[in-house]
Amino acid sequence: MKEPEPGDPARSPAAEAAAGAVDLDEVVTFARALIAAPSENPGGTEDEAVEVAGGILADLGVVAETVRGEAGRPSLVARLGADAGPSLAWNGHLDTVPAGSRDTWSSPPFEGRLVDGALVGRGACDMKGSIAATLAALAAIRRAGVEPGGSLWLHLAADEELAGLHGTKVLFENGFLDQDAAVVGEPTELQLGLAQRGGAWLTATAFGRAAHGSTPDLGVNAITSMARFLLRLQGGLPDRRHPLAGSPTINAAIIAGGSAPNVVPDRCRVDIDRRVIPGETDPDEVLAPLRAVIDDLTAEHPEVRIDLEVREWTDAAEAPPDSRVAVLARRAVAAETGSEPVDAGFTGITDARYYINRARIPAVILGPGSLRVAHTADEWVAVEDLVTAARATARLFVGFLGS
Ligand SMILES: [Zn+2]
Repeated sequence: MKEPEPGDPARSPAAEAAAGAVDLDEVVTFARALIAAPSENPGGTEDEAVEVAGGILADLGVVAETVRGEAGRPSLVARLGADAGPSLAWNGHLDTVPAGSRDTWSSPPFEGRLVDGALVGRGACDMKGSIAATLAALAAIRRAGVEPGGSLWLHLAADEELAGLHGTKVLFENGFLDQDAAVVGEPTELQLGLAQRGGAWLTATAFGRAAHGSTPDLGVNAITSMARFLLRLQGGLPDRRHPLAGSPTINAAIIAGGSAPNVVPDRCRVDIDRRVIPGETDPDEVLAPLRAVIDDLTAEHPEVRIDLEVREWTDAAEAPPDSRVAVLARRAVAAETGSEPVDAGFTGITDARYYINRARIPAVILGPGSLRVAHTADEWVAVEDLVTAARATARLFVGFLGS
């Protein structure tokens, strides 16, 4: 165990008082209320969850503003604390992935049932539990009578699960992302997320030649060409690795081809999910090794003709390990768990990229729960982890902003 630094702001008397005022029942009550307000994406909106979060904030005497982009999806923005001094944003997304078939759940997905010390429900882990922990941290700061010496901004965003275009991006475009630093509360098991991968959504189209299904030798089967390519897809990955974000990956996600059972297909299309790591910024560089695979195939099978294009690109992101928010986040977690969290990479895409890449704000990803259970049936988070997160968050807020 590392000795606490003398004068550690995450262990100041005000930070101790705020952490000590965190209330377990309150954390659970907030989390259950948020889970009971479905916000499935796609399929629903965040309106009900905004109402619940806005109600909790109103009870704390905090006025929150609903911000909507063109699509009308609501994000909630609130500011606590002083006008002057340092500023910190905490971001959490209010939407969840759909619950899926009810019969794959052992308890109703929007009930928030407590089972053996875990809270079960859609969003329990990703990430209504995390939002509840942060709201409980704010309640604790208030209860402890601590006045933050700067401003804390809550960005409770819509639409993260489908790329954040109608959520945090809207907040960025409306000028809300102008703090000194940010914390994105996605589930990291309270490890410190400093890097995340991005994604290139590619479309591969194989071209063949139609013929009667009874005389396939007169045509070129586009599905067969595509099959040859897909079996070699992994060979189109570069041999590189980021110390935190890991290696690039590739996954054939959607396939379509053919028109009738008795026709040789002349088209086959596949959507490919290629995850990129920090440092991979050039779409052409990502495509080049895949095109080389296609060239090799065409050399062996002259009928193979496949086009490849980038349909959508999301940059990876990387934050400095020595920013003030990163240092204080480590200390805040260490004050609760006894050891500093390890620096980690996040395999998925998060809204942290809007803070890091667009607004140029250092941001860390830090939250309770494991990404392994996010998006699953019976998604859960340990109540104990929510409380630890709430206490660490209270320390981080007070430590970063002063009092
Ligand atoms: Zn999430």
